[in-house]
Amino acid sequence: MAETAKILSPQKKVLLPDLKAGCSLADSAPPELFARFKTQYPDHLVISYINCSAGIKALSDIICTSSNAEKIIEAVPKDQPIIFAPDRNLGSYLMKKTGRDMVLWNGACMVHEIFSLEKITKLKVRHPNAKIIAHPECEAPILAIADFVGSTTGLLKFTQRDDAKEYIVVTETGILHQMQKENPGKTFIPAPPNNACACNDCPHMKLNTLEKLYLCMEYEQPEITMDENLRIAAKRPIDRMLEISTQAGL
Ligand code: SF4
Repeated sequence: MAETAKILSPQKKVLLPDLKAGCSLADSAPPELFARFKTQYPDHLVISYINCSAGIKALSDIICTSSNAEKIIEAVPKDQPIIFAPDRNLGSYLMKKTGRDMVLWNGACMVHEIFSLEKITKLKVRHPNAKIIAHPECEAPILAIADFVGSTTGLLKFTQRDDAKEYIVVTETGILHQMQKENPGKTFIPAPPNNACACNDCPHMKLNTLEKLYLCMEYEQPEITMDENLRIAAKRPIDRMLEISTQAGL
């Protein structure tokens, strides 16, 4: 996200409290391997989910978010083959939603892959009226039992318009605070992961602590810097996404 801010606003100073606060999904698509992968599909158009490195963006034709991905794919002519990167779970979910057969890069987010179907099912037995809401970065069996699948914003909006009182939330825990704030009368239960520590916080995002944020604002570093040629190449597919979104009225 910090890289994307720099790509779009090169004239501005972009700071990140901890430069190690990366993303396992972005790391699952090293640009040099992806460039080689792409050569096997010379006639394919590359659509990449925004949670990827600047290097992957530079190798892509269009960027998408989890909110606009369906519309972006639908805007591409039906006879145009597509590579979708880097998230294989989001990619297969979109293949089902759009009916498009896409070549998927085999990447994933460690936080969304760790949820336990068995534990979520047991939780549902204990809370029969709770609705299961999930992010499309989760694996297909989890999405299959969800009452609603959507982007982070989509999940938040769903809880505001839906009349249930309880939700099992299958995504990174950061959004739960916002959901609780927007819906004071409702209960939000974080879905349990498949590991012993029972925590589904993103270890990358959580590196950005309040103390580091304070120091970062005080000293105006660490700063995101980027090679200008890379920035220009990475901006092109983001601009394309914005054009398509405007045309589609998103
Ligand atoms: S939850 Fe963490 S690892 Fe997963 S996509 Fe978001 S930033 Fe990346």
